[in-house]
Amino acid sequence: MVPTLHRPAQVNVDLSAIKQNIKNEMKHLDDGQQLWAVVKANAYGHGSIPVANAAIAAGATGLCVATLDEGIQLRQSGITVPILILGIVKTEWATLAAQEDLSLAVGSLAWLKKAEELLEANNDKLKIHLAIDSGMGRIGFSEDEEFKAANEFLKDNHNFEVEGMFTHFSKADSSDTSYFEYQVKRFDHMKSLLLIKPKYIHVDNTAASIFSRGVKSDLVRFGIGMYGLNPSSVPNAADLKSDIELTPALSFTSELSFVKQIHPGNGVGYGATFVADRDEWIGTVPVGYADGWQRKMQGFKIKVGDEYCPIVGRVCMDQFMVLLPHEMPVGTKVELISADPKAPNNIKAVADQVGTIHYEIACLLSDRLPRVYK
Ligand SMILES: *Cc1c(COP(=O)(O)O)cnc(C)c1O
Repeated sequence: MVPTLHRPAQVNVDLSAIKQNIKNEMKHLDDGQQLWAVVKANAYGHGSIPVANAAIAAGATGLCVATLDEGIQLRQSGITVPILILGIVKTEWATLAAQEDLSLAVGSLAWLKKAEELLEANNDKLKIHLAIDSGMGRIGFSEDEEFKAANEFLKDNHNFEVEGMFTHFSKADSSDTSYFEYQVKRFDHMKSLLLIKPKYIHVDNTAASIFSRGVKSDLVRFGIGMYGLNPSSVPNAADLKSDIELTPALSFTSELSFVKQIHPGNGVGYGATFVADRDEWIGTVPVGYADGWQRKMQGFKIKVGDEYCPIVGRVCMDQFMVLLPHEMPVGTKVELISADPKAPNNIKAVADQVGTIHYEIACLLSDRLPRVYK
């Protein structure tokens, strides 16, 4: 979708908050431990290139993204730090990754063998991180025999440089640590099978680091925390306590595009799910589900001027309506998502309204919304 510049609706990103979150996290790291900033999915909706540059300026020594194209976009912007692609890339693009100096996650021997043929034919050397499935059930080596065979294959192999070995936790954001500990044990076992020495052995995401789970990790893959959000993600539950201070970087603002009075019996929106039983003032906001502002937001209170007003009627594709306490002028400022974690319209409250986690709210904010940096 084309970014819509001629409309008062924008995602505001405070890069100084992102830098501060990184600096706070870096103070919390062990000696020699690095921070790699996770900027996948357009930096969780915050805008990949500006966020990546801010992260590097604040001390991040590497970046992680999800797809090859996200990595290429960063390289084309002139970024030179190591970049790890966290997802599986098809073998046919192994040479492209090598040429762009992007490191790939690898989770099977079959992948290595197929990629090697292409790398050999092109005389390329690819940096890889061995992904270990220690209990996430997503990608990575999980069987001893295959992992041992992969190590034999990689030993003295000139087409691959084993830059890393890593795993990902499925319950690092939980107060019950038993499954986390089970994953640590499985990962430690896989480490004992190594025949090569990867430069970075890494396990920490934000949660494992800020809840101080005390596992050894040469680098922290710092994602949600960089954006100032606590990863503890049980809906409608209090956050686990972070050991570092986090300041949210994102807010979402607009303005009233239209204001009118309606009368008893008048409906609002598709299906007329709101019908006035007295004279009411209704404001229209030029934002809809095509911007990532979902239909489930009906009923949620957002800030209009200085007052919190409920969304009435169904959210349309490009517009929605709010019930105003009194007449307000067209152009009145509207805040859909506040960066203040104490505000009733903070991103976690939005996620609770939709029945999801704040990660999903942030990355679904669509490309139609311009990102404005401060
Ligand atoms: C997304 C991701 C991260 C970052 O997770 P946060 O919870 O945002 O810190 C780290 N590692 C992997 C493998 C990921 O996919």
